[in-house]
Amino acid sequence: MSWTERQRLMLREMGLQVWSPAAEEAPLAAPVPPPAVAVPAPTVQPQRQAVTGPVATMDWDTLRVTVAGCQACTLCSSRRNTVFGVGNPNAHWMIVGEAPGEQEDLKGEPFVGPAGQLLDNMLRALQLTRSEAEPERQVFIANTLKCRPPRNRNPEPAELAQCEPYLMRQIELVQPKIILAMGRFAVQSLLRSSEPIGRLRGRVHQYQGVPLVVTYHPAYLLRNPSDKARAWDDLCLALERLRVAPVRGGDPGAGAA
Ligand code: SF4
Repeated sequence: MSWTERQRLMLREMGLQVWSPAAEEAPLAAPVPPPAVAVPAPTVQPQRQAVTGPVATMDWDTLRVTVAGCQACTLCSSRRNTVFGVGNPNAHWMIVGEAPGEQEDLKGEPFVGPAGQLLDNMLRALQLTRSEAEPERQVFIANTLKCRPPRNRNPEPAELAQCEPYLMRQIELVQPKIILAMGRFAVQSLLRSSEPIGRLRGRVHQYQGVPLVVTYHPAYLLRNPSDKARAWDDLCLALERLRVAPVRGGDPGAGAA
């Protein structure tokens, strides 16, 4: 599939109307160059501490079991399931959301329900998937919090702080080539920034040497469809970042996990 076809599919999947008679009449004779997505220089973030404590040395299976039995904050008393994450543990793309909602808590999987469907549509348009696939195509999706806050209230700072080492260790183990931070709490946790999404999106940040792009949470996009075009721009930016620096962490000497 050409980039132009993918772009049209993406926009349609996200609910944006596309009118392109030239493409209908002569799709092969008049190829359109890829969208010119400027990739601004990465934004320098404050140096973060690496994961410390027992979580720092956990392998994938130990981490999963530890999260499943975690009682480090009060959310353990009301959860039905922990939501560890889903996807390929060697994925090139990592998507970080906020906290599980009711459906996620029931199913033990992030991004289910309408917001999850929108995310899956967005991923499909980029030929990415959460289902089984090779690391180049299969994303890993995790949340900032692994347990659902009651009545979907906002996470408390103390809960985010308690849960953060799990996400940090997941990122260390996955070693993604690009991170998409979706929503305010994912951004606050990964970038240590309380600036609004609108101010942080549109440029490439860094998380522990990994390029990070900020975008809107799919649940927000369902409530504010006019921002879907901006989310599309963010995905284009992330894809373009991978194209210009197709190595882990932007280090030309780095190899695959
Ligand atoms: S939210 Fe995180 S820190 Fe709190 S109980 Fe669940 S896994 Fe543990």
